[in-house]
This record gives sequence, structure tokens and C-alpha cells, in this order.
Amino acid sequence: MTRRTVVTIGAGQAAAVAARNLRRRGFDGRIVLLGDEPHPPYQRPPLSKEFLSGAEGLDSLWILPQKWLADNDIDIVTGVEVRRVDAATRAVQIDGGPDIEADAVLFATGGRPRTLPVPGPRPELIHYLRTLDDATRLAPQLTAGRRLAIVGAGFIGLELAATATAAGVHVTVVDPAPLPLARVIGTAMGQAVCRLHRDSGVDLRTGSALDAVRTTADGVVVDIADGSTVHADVAVVGIGITPNIDAAAATGLHLDDGIVTDAAGRTSIAHIFAAGDVARRYSPRAGAHVRLEHFDNASRQGAAVADAILDRGTGSDEPPWFWSDQHGRNLQFVGTAAGDPLIRGDLDGMDFTAVYLQGGAVCGAFSVERGEDIMAVRELLGREVDTAALCDEDSDLWDLVYDDEEVHA
Ligand SMILES: Cc1cc2nc3c(=O)[nH]c(=O)nc-3n(C[C@H](O)[C@H](O)[C@H](O)COP(=O)(O)OP(=O)(O)OC[C@H]3O[C@@H](n4cnc5c(N)ncnc54)[C@H](O)[C@@H]3O)c2cc1C
Repeated sequence: MTRRTVVTIGAGQAAAVAARNLRRRGFDGRIVLLGDEPHPPYQRPPLSKEFLSGAEGLDSLWILPQKWLADNDIDIVTGVEVRRVDAATRAVQIDGGPDIEADAVLFATGGRPRTLPVPGPRPELIHYLRTLDDATRLAPQLTAGRRLAIVGAGFIGLELAATATAAGVHVTVVDPAPLPLARVIGTAMGQAVCRLHRDSGVDLRTGSALDAVRTTADGVVVDIADGSTVHADVAVVGIGITPNIDAAAATGLHLDDGIVTDAAGRTSIAHIFAAGDVARRYSPRAGAHVRLEHFDNASRQGAAVADAILDRGTGSDEPPWFWSDQHGRNLQFVGTAAGDPLIRGDLDGMDFTAVYLQGGAVCGAFSVERGEDIMAVRELLGREVDTAALCDEDSDLWDLVYDDEEVHA
């Protein structure tokens, strides 16, 4: 009997977790990871943090240890781009290589940075930050006394601003939105993040459109619509990603700003799955298809697809959760933001949890230096709770979780 073969397109977070879970669950067929980067699967979060600052080296990035790969017979093929999958035969077609016949295919192709047209004689001064190679190119630019302009005050831009500031770089961040991250964490928390950066020495300029980013013989110039100008030695553009869907489009998969899947990660074509940043998965919790760009989401979806390939489980529908590290503070978020949150802890001292309510029920939380609170709030999502106790530092949030469970029992 021939061995069943699972092929992943992309060899990043979701693909690596899918491979690991297939083996953990006893799949003894062939597993092939096809990635267009020249590296085996690695974690991206440190690229804007510990790896960029030099605090951690390459060895800390690899997702699947060498020994595990050898013991578990996983084929990782790097530096190959998949063009399409034949929907009828599931032959995976590689640019310049032979087809690979697969029984199941996982699209885990992630996304690539949105780009800006930047005119001028020195395009090498403009960086993006998505890959290990991007971070390796950028790291030597971040030396004390240099001037860095960051276009975009999203998570990547803000983490980079924090890492570069700690290295003694003069950082200016420009973003047309009035507040950083407000779309995700709301206005009040956007203000808190704004303060964190300004108090830490970042020149954060928000609320004015960008007229142009250009290079000159002397460096980078950012022209802002309010008439001001930023001069820098180097710039990073961090204005979001666009999902990598070229191969999915050539395969004929149903697309909608990403690859549309059901709750378990199945696409519109049988035996073809999608997971991670590229997947727009149906979330029963949200009652809608959603596409998320977080590490935890990619890992959970990779694991859920491994289950679906093995005809086990119905997918994971955990609330969105992510973390970020900025200026020595750990930020975490779970659920969704809504209106003005209730504050537990010290907002001015940047040691707090903000809890969002919708219709009287907890719908999400954002914390600074309080990951433990986030774990508790996660259990409270969808429940009405005693708001006085929620804000009272002397009451244990876990007591609310268990009290509430008793009430609901
Ligand atoms: C700098 C940085 C910092 C981050 N920090 C955090 C954080 O603090 N917290 C958090 O929750 N999330 C963070 N993230 C997000 C998180 O890393 C991503 O959500 C996660 O990596 C997504 O995993 P994925 O498997 O979907 O895609 P990826 O890890 O991007 O892997 C996709 C791979 O597929 C390859 N590929 C694409 N098309 C093809 C093709 N046709 N053929 C072959 N290969 C292909 C891509 O080149 C890529 O290597 C960060 C991301 C970055 C870039």
C-alpha cells in the first residue's frame, strides 16, 4: 500500500505546527513542507524584538528542532515556490521542479508586506520587516545615534520603534491614524500606547496623511501633509500585509481577502486546507469568516487542520489572543474591544488590565504587564460579572471566574 502524503505550501508557523500535530496524532505517511524562503520553519515574533536587538540568536528561532525533524521523517524543501495545485489530482506544481502528488494539501502561505512606492536614488535605505532575511538586513542599521523613520504605527512598527529606541536610535513613527492601534484596542488604549511610546522617547507623529516617502543622496525624507518633514538615515515601512494567494487563485480556491475555509480549515476544494495568516476561517463564535494575523491563531489553525486531515475534531474556535513587547512591557489582548473599558490596576503606571464590556458581558481585555489577568478574562468572555470586583485590585479575578461558574451551574 502506498503511503499517504500531506504537502504544505509554505513552511512557516501554521505548516510546522500542522506537521508536528500530524505526527503526534500518529500519522505515519509522508509529510512534505514546501517553502519559498531559504530557511526551515522559524518564529517571526522575535524578528522585531529579541532577534533584532541581538538578545537572542538564530538558534532560538527554529520551530522544529533538527533532531525531531530527523526522528519524525519530515521533508522540508526550502527555496521553492509552488505555482498551483491541480484540483482534480492534487498534484502540487512547483516552479522549476517535478510535481508532487498529495492526498491532502495545506495552504499556509502567510502574507507579504504592503509596499509603498518610494522614489529616489537610494532604494536600499527602505526596509520591510517580515522575514528572517529582512531582520538580518535591518539589524546592523540600528546603531546608536542613527535616525530611523518608521511608516506605520501598527504592531510591527511599534515593536521596532521600541527595539530601536533601546539601542539608542532616534526613532520617528508616522501614521495618518489619530492614535496607534485604536482600530484593534480602542481609543482609550490607543492613547495609553501612544503615551508609552512618547514617554520612552519615540517621536510619534499621528493624525496627518503622508505626502511622500523618498530617498535622497543624504538619506530618507518623509513629507507629512501638515507641512512637517522627517529626515532619517534609514526607514522601515510597516503598513500591514497582504495575504499570499497567488497559488490559491491559480488552484481555483474560493478567495475573499484570503482563502475562505470552514471552521476546521477546509477550503472550497476537497482535501485542500488553509491555515494561518492567509486563511479566512469561519468562526462560529463570531458568526462570520475572519482572517487573523497572530502567532496563536496560526498555531491553533495548523493543529486544527492536522486533525481535519485525519478526520478528527471540528476545529478550534478560541477567541483571538496575541501579545506584543514594547519598551520593556508585555502587552496582551484577548477577544474584541468595545467602547470605554473598565480599568483594573494602575493606568498611569502602565501596569493594568482594561476590560471591555458589550451589552453588560465581558467581550475582551487588553493588559500591560498582566498576562495572568488575560488568562482569567478569557474564561469570563460572554459572562456578566460584578464590575466593582472586576476593578478592585483586592479581589482575585479567578474568584470571579469560579463564582460565576457556580452561579451558572
Ligand atoms: C516581525 C514580526 C513580529 C511578530 N510578532 C508577533 C507577536 O508578537 N505576537 C503575535 O501574536 N504575532 C506576531 N507576529 C505574527 C505571526 O508571526 C504570524 O501571524 C505567523 O507567523 C503566521 O504564520 P503563517 O504560518 O500563517 O505564515 P508565515 O509564518 O508567514 O509562513 C508562510 C510561509 O509561506 C511562504 N510562501 C508563501 N507563498 C508560497 C508559495 N507559493 N510557495 C512556497 N512558499 C510560500 C512564505 O514565504 C512564508 O515563508 C509577528 C510577525 C512578524 C513579521
